[in-house]
Amino acid sequence: MRSIGSILVPDTMFECVLHRQAVRVACQCGHFNHFDPAGLWWKFHRKGWPDSFRDARERFYCRPCRIGTGMKRRPVMIEASQAWPIVILPVPDERTWKNALARMR
Ligand SMILES: [Zn+2]
Repeated sequence: MRSIGSILVPDTMFECVLHRQAVRVACQCGHFNHFDPAGLWWKFHRKGWPDSFRDARERFYCRPCRIGTGMKRRPVMIEASQAWPIVILPVPDERTWKNALARMR
């Protein structure tokens, strides 16, 4: 978590869950997605991947660029966003989720 003035800015997916913000993943081509942080965090957690935005770069690639160029172009920016999530991934059942929250706090 960073602070810009008096505003706290999440820099992990889990912090986005706690602060109810989406995760914005943007490519240099202009394509971007807003992910629901809970499902995204859960996916990373299950795979044992760190959920910090810095580390998560290697886990994303831009689909339009992949289709257009055949290359897996990594995002130029991953950040917290107030926007409503476009992509919502499955979240764990209530108990698993609560256990995970308890561990993280
Ligand atoms: Zn792209």
